[in-house]
Amino acid sequence: MVNIILCGAPGSGKGTQSDFIVDKYALTHLSTGDLMRKEMASGSELGQLLNSYISQGHLVPDDVTLQLLEQYIDSLPKDTKGLIFDGFPRTLNQAIQLERLMKKRGDKTAMLIDINVPEDEIIRRLLERGKTSGRADDNLETIKERLKVYHEQTRPVDDYYELIDKYVRIQGLGKVSEIFGRISRVLDKIYK
Ligand code: ADP
Repeated sequence: MVNIILCGAPGSGKGTQSDFIVDKYALTHLSTGDLMRKEMASGSELGQLLNSYISQGHLVPDDVTLQLLEQYIDSLPKDTKGLIFDGFPRTLNQAIQLERLMKKRGDKTAMLIDINVPEDEIIRRLLERGKTSGRADDNLETIKERLKVYHEQTRPVDDYYELIDKYVRIQGLGKVSEIFGRISRVLDKIYK
């Protein structure tokens, strides 16, 4: 599998852009947040554990996250072309573990695409989403905590991929189609 990572603050549009990428490039969308919400909805013990972190705007511990991720990857059909990692890796340790896993499987991460959106716009979008999303973490207090966590824990992931020459930053403001155009220019080179 040749995979890409979509990175960006909560509300930067990773999920929206993933839908377009899936359609055009036949990749498989893997959102760790979605995986976790599904587990929470099942009411399992693991789901309750996840909820205790997510509802506070904190990250789920790396070992739990990685186990969920590996289980999901193992369940994929053998002919899966590639994954869009959305919301993963979110810590430097997750990035290092991901690269280790890719190497072990003979897969690779081609590029991290960082969707850049100013913070006031992020807060506006998440509050708007909170009106209908039903997500316990889309309220102002938790949004601020999630942004803090993003700056402190997830930014180093960008630096890591920049260091290994697999980093591209794109402007995340504008029409959804314009942003997809910017992403497409990157992906056209990877999936020729
Ligand atoms: P958003 O990008 O809007 O924050 P996500 O669905 O990606 O939404 O994540 C929601 C929450 O799920 C995060 O705040 C965190 O608690 C948890 N989560 C998702 N992905 C990870 C991850 N890779 N590592 C740890 N926690 C995660």
